[in-house]
Amino acid sequence: MSDRRPIIAANWKMNKTPQEGVKFAEQLTTKALNLGRVDFILAPSATGLFHIHGALRDSAIELAGQNMHFAERGAYTGENSAAMLVASGCQWVLIGHSERRHVFHESDEDIRKKIPAALSAGLKVIHCIGERLEEREKGRTREILQHQISNDLADLSGFPADKLIIAYEPVWAIGTGVVATPEQAGEAHAQIREIVGQLFPGPSGEQVKILYGGSVKSDSAAALIRIPGIDGFLIGGASLDVDEYCNIAEIAATEVLDNR
Ligand code: PEP
Repeated sequence: MSDRRPIIAANWKMNKTPQEGVKFAEQLTTKALNLGRVDFILAPSATGLFHIHGALRDSAIELAGQNMHFAERGAYTGENSAAMLVASGCQWVLIGHSERRHVFHESDEDIRKKIPAALSAGLKVIHCIGERLEEREKGRTREILQHQISNDLADLSGFPADKLIIAYEPVWAIGTGVVATPEQAGEAHAQIREIVGQLFPGPSGEQVKILYGGSVKSDSAAALIRIPGIDGFLIGGASLDVDEYCNIAEIAATEVLDNR
């Protein structure tokens, strides 16, 4: 992935059958020929990965799992291992998505174990963090980000900036239609960069890419991507429509590569 190109990642959550996912991937590969100025990552549900990987084979579009278990194998009904994601065509996995943390009650310990397990299996990680509304209202945003970063990355021996992306996704903005203002997102991204820099001093901490996620649509994308600390987006709802997803990508490319 190149340095300045925005990363436009799609989290489909529990949407799209494998067949629908393949159709989207085929449409995207055609459109992406003209949109070669961004790095696309698709995170379909686990059942679609292998088929969608086939549809993406001749493209530079990369694939992510939405979740994984930290164990290599065993009696974990309903779970998928990192090796299974790799064998299904994934280069990436999302870890710590707010729905995993708050709907499925994934613990700090679970998330901390998953990140090194993913990296050792050869996956790159999109590490999702973000505060809840009540935490923001109490002025605790920085404290929550600090806690999530220092807990979740505690078992890494170094900071693998080329294999790890941080996605700042305020919980109050995910799936709500309430997008963070560029000021709110810019402030949180600056805090994340500072926290990472303190925990992992040196160039790798400075180079890590930080995405914004939370109700991004084509009408909010330009103002957000203009913020220098925002390197791309993790998009849920708006990524389900291939035209809207590509519109956001085109806006991001124009702002970053032509105007920034
Ligand atoms: C997400 O699920 O990561 C997300 C950002 O969702 P949405 O864009 O729908 O808010």
